[in-house]
Amino acid sequence: MSIPISNPWDRPGEEVVEPSHGASPDVIAEFLLDDEANTGERLTPMHVARFAKNRGADPAAVVHAMRHARAGARDQGAHVERDAVRAITRFPSPIIGTAGLGAPVHDKAGWAQVRAEGLVPKSARLCPHLLWFMDRMSGVVFPIKKPCESWWCEETCSGEKAQVILDHAARSFSEFATIYYAMVADSDANTVARIRQRRHQRGGETLWVRRFDGTVHVFSTKDLPGRTPPERFSALLPVEARAVLQRQALLLPGPVARRWSRGWNITDPASGPGSGSTSAALGGGARDVIDEAWELALAEVEERYGVDPTTDFTPDQIETIWLPIVRAAIARVKAQRWATSGD
Ligand SMILES: [Zn+2]
Repeated sequence: MSIPISNPWDRPGEEVVEPSHGASPDVIAEFLLDDEANTGERLTPMHVARFAKNRGADPAAVVHAMRHARAGARDQGAHVERDAVRAITRFPSPIIGTAGLGAPVHDKAGWAQVRAEGLVPKSARLCPHLLWFMDRMSGVVFPIKKPCESWWCEETCSGEKAQVILDHAARSFSEFATIYYAMVADSDANTVARIRQRRHQRGGETLWVRRFDGTVHVFSTKDLPGRTPPERFSALLPVEARAVLQRQALLLPGPVARRWSRGWNITDPASGPGSGSTSAALGGGARDVIDEAWELALAEVEERYGVDPTTDFTPDQIETIWLPIVRAAIARVKAQRWATSGD
């Protein structure tokens, strides 16, 4: 017995003319939006990517075209961006306009969607993010404000992270006549391992960017085609590659990881003061978590030693007794909140 497989593009009693192979991203996007309107159901990014891929279109371009059509593309910024996406999907193309090249591009509709659909991971601790320290002499705890450095931080950090990559690409891409680009729509755990392997065999440098929808964008100084995705690379001028990096790979929100190969590597700036001779690092945490832990730790010392550690303990006692108790209390409060935040 065979199980009937329903085709979501096929509706009984209605002639559906599907976009042909080689149709432009806009035509495909229009068709898919029409389909959404007919069924009243939102298509998953996976569906869209597969549908686009089967017709030889760039899935990212189709996704963006759909998003902008949904948002109405009313404001001028959206128009400019949509035109840019259309321009950079005609590989290979002559030099495209470089106006505005170099700054991160925020997709306002995308941020709204991310918030509405609760896509920001629970583990993300967004700005303002506090790092806590204990003064080794007095036993007093104090915070230092630190950027959350999350790709999900709309206000500051996502843009700063993208900017660092764009700045580095402006220097490193331009040292080559051609940058090869490929996008893998349904990346798996082995996608970036394969890219690394090919680079080891054929040389060159690579940068890849992974997005939360599962796409991986690869930029390489050598053509790295293979029998498994990415199968083909497009040869781009450095300036075109930078535009693709800016408007597709790093379009915000979306990126979740990136890696430069060693020859292209940039050293990440050291973060936070770390543990030193005058203060001990206690890690990150919301103020109320630290407050609660502080109270618990005070009560414990009071009960065990009958003293106030911040006035009665010597620096040696702070180091050996008070610091471990505070650390344990913070871990306990965090574990408690973690356990109760699930439902
Ligand atoms: Zn932040």
